[in-house]
Amino acid sequence: MGVSLEEMVAACRPYTRQGQLPGYIPALKQGDPSRLGACLLSCDGRLSQAGDWDVSFSIQSIVKPILLLQALLDNGVDTVRSHVGVEATGKPFDAINYTDQVLDSQHLNPMVNMGAIAVCSLIRGGSYQERFRRLLDLTRLLAGEESRIQVNEDVYRSEKANGSKNRALAYLLKTYGIIRDDVEDVLDCYFHACAISTDCGGLARIGCVLANQGRRPGSGEALVPPEYARFVNAILTTCGMYDGSGDFAVRVGVPAKSGVGGGIMAVAPGRMGIGIFSPALDPKGNSLAGTRLLELLSRELDLSIF
Ligand code: GLU
Repeated sequence: MGVSLEEMVAACRPYTRQGQLPGYIPALKQGDPSRLGACLLSCDGRLSQAGDWDVSFSIQSIVKPILLLQALLDNGVDTVRSHVGVEATGKPFDAINYTDQVLDSQHLNPMVNMGAIAVCSLIRGGSYQERFRRLLDLTRLLAGEESRIQVNEDVYRSEKANGSKNRALAYLLKTYGIIRDDVEDVLDCYFHACAISTDCGGLARIGCVLANQGRRPGSGEALVPPEYARFVNAILTTCGMYDGSGDFAVRVGVPAKSGVGGGIMAVAPGRMGIGIFSPALDPKGNSLAGTRLLELLSRELDLSIF
């Protein structure tokens, strides 16, 4: 790199002032908007980190690709594809993606809330607590370090107490028979999933498994089948940044997933996983300074897949 990671973080830090903390989850409103950190992990195990890379945050929607992986591992591609579609919605993350007289499962996208809530019901387990536990175990397996992946109970309780929009989405799913289980049970799993917390290192490690065809960086241990990693990367490319995915593809050009906690997990196939954190968001719900930093990194390291 001609410019160091530390210098790129410093160059992007002023952009943290242009974003907004999300108001609809009260616990996230208390974050420090000036934070910006990054961690890069290459497929052969080289690590670089800068800025606030060690601050813990809730991964929020970045759990959606992990939920999808768990659903694929539990059911295979055909069953998953019969329950949720893969077309980009072009709509905000919490949109009621409802365009017709009936809610068709192929109108659901697992990278936005309604599709992800539906995916929770595809995870195997006797109870929704068990399903969440299995999702947490998979997250820890992908991150490689159990202590890096925790659940932020304050964020969980805050979202559960204020999640009326997600409740509306879940009740619509129930009305149209897409989920059959108790709505509050399914939502409890979803809210817990969104409250999983880690730092930039955790996101870089998970992203690197996706970049490395499902194998652990460095050791090459197979964690998920390569075809599932490819499936997830494809959907991240078209929908991972919500209705900002096209703009992100042009500016950065790698599969990525953002969360309203300020994280972005980016996947440079065959090269590296990247974890970014900066909690002030742009109007679409993506980390504003984080996206600028990824744009710089992509240019500097020639990361775009296009
Ligand atoms: N927990 C958030 C919600 O359901 C996730 C949204 C996001 O990270 O974009 O509203």
